[in-house]
Amino acid sequence: MYWHEATETLLKPLTGPGRVGLISDMDGTLSPIVDQPDAAQITPRSKELLAALQKKLALVALVSGRAVTDLTARAGLPQLVYMGNHGLEKWVDEQVQLTPEALQHRPALEAALRDLHGQVDPGMLVEDKGATLSIHYRQTADPAAAEQKFSPVMQQIATQHGLRCFAGRMIFELRPPIDVDKGSAFEMLVRDYRLDAAVYLGDDTTDADALSKARQLREQGRCHAVGIGVESADMPVIVQESADLMASGVSDVESFLSWLLSASSASST
Ligand SMILES: [Mg+2]
Repeated sequence: MYWHEATETLLKPLTGPGRVGLISDMDGTLSPIVDQPDAAQITPRSKELLAALQKKLALVALVSGRAVTDLTARAGLPQLVYMGNHGLEKWVDEQVQLTPEALQHRPALEAALRDLHGQVDPGMLVEDKGATLSIHYRQTADPAAAEQKFSPVMQQIATQHGLRCFAGRMIFELRPPIDVDKGSAFEMLVRDYRLDAAVYLGDDTTDADALSKARQLREQGRCHAVGIGVESADMPVIVQESADLMASGVSDVESFLSWLLSASSASST
């Protein structure tokens, strides 16, 4: 079901009263997917809407796999709350706050980084995000072949250094063996900001943790949380499986934000 079919039902509690939060992924949700991860930008319309929503809601937060410094600078909205590296880092008082457990695994990440540099193919981009490593293969000649070839290689490097390997859209990630993901980040934000209702938006495998967490929190009666999956050409099946509702791409997310803004404005006047 698409989100606009649920504005009078599942989404209704998001229009207040009570403390409402909007928590969103960035890439592929607020910004169109681009070949160079460095070129990704939140659409001007979404940026405007997020700034306006921040004044209406109890919380507007972005949760991303990107390093939190990168995410914060890229969004360029200082009033928002940011969690990077899938929740391993938070931007607090203009500083990076790293989960202490993550710090302990930095030497293992550095050793993995040295291994990676000798092994990746041309077109692959190894990114050191401090608390995690990302290996992008969108720009290789044949991304599907690169995925097949490197999936066992990444697994092996992860195992060797006591790390965990994850796969996303044209990306492998090596992360410390800590049970922090976008789902636990979402749960933490709901708790810390005492949200009565919350929505999570995301498009990728790692967002599925937060999408299913939303359903879980709602079913447990802890928060009226709703997960919206964002469709794309190469959307992982698990996104649809975990989401309560769908949005048809980045431009439909703009429409959702616009609806949320006018609905919450209407209810607060
Ligand atoms: Mg994404």
